[in-house]
Amino acid sequence: MPVPQLLVPVVDLIFPPRCPLCGGGIGSQSGLCPQCWSTLSVPGDPACALCSRPFGDTMPDGGICAPCFAQPPRHAGIAAATLYDEPSRKLVLALKHGRRLALAGMMARLIAARLNGVDETWLFVPVPLHRWRLWKRGYNQAAELARELVRISGGQLVVDGLERRKPTPSLGGLGKLARKRALSGAIRVNPRRAGRLKGASVVLVDDVLTSGATSNACVAQLRRAGAKRVVIACFARVLDEALDHT
Ligand SMILES: [Zn+2]
Ligand SMILES: [Zn+2]
Repeated sequence: MPVPQLLVPVVDLIFPPRCPLCGGGIGSQSGLCPQCWSTLSVPGDPACALCSRPFGDTMPDGGICAPCFAQPPRHAGIAAATLYDEPSRKLVLALKHGRRLALAGMMARLIAARLNGVDETWLFVPVPLHRWRLWKRGYNQAAELARELVRISGGQLVVDGLERRKPTPSLGGLGKLARKRALSGAIRVNPRRAGRLKGASVVLVDDVLTSGATSNACVAQLRRAGAKRVVIACFARVLDEALDHT
């Protein structure tokens, strides 16, 4: 829930707005200071026609990156607000471990700026947390971003479109096969939402896109349930998914 406008001065009085990256004073609870804005890395052009992976200067626009070439993606594109580095990592951690009300809106605005052609018919589905983790943390940061994205871009939130049926270990450091095994059967479409997802255009929302193993499992399940297309939207994208295809 956004802080009601009337309350903002009181909140600001008790918690003077601070930049979540450097701690410097800022004008409102929902942004970064000007210096920190300029440290965010935004994926540039030219980029892969299928997944928007930036090529640097090495490829002409319209080309396809090596991972997409090796294995054509089942998603219909990746909209990433930033590339994963120190500043975006700090924001992701701050969203995960506190200050989410102030940050989710700002992070979602940056994601929305990269999402093209999404209208009110699209469904926004967050990458699910297992209920134990949800219970421990109290909220799913991907769902918070999805909620804000819906507010900005006018789609519909299906917060429980996907469910995680078993807790999965951290996938970091696992090889492609091990990740696949860890995720096998872990994520499925919520049977109560299957009717809504059939034939739908879906935005799958996550805070960080790392190996792509989790999002690929989500996309596969959504497509299996009949989703017409699935676009992945994330705040920070790690650019070593090439590892996924080795
Ligand atoms: Zn700052
Ligand atoms: Zn690609």
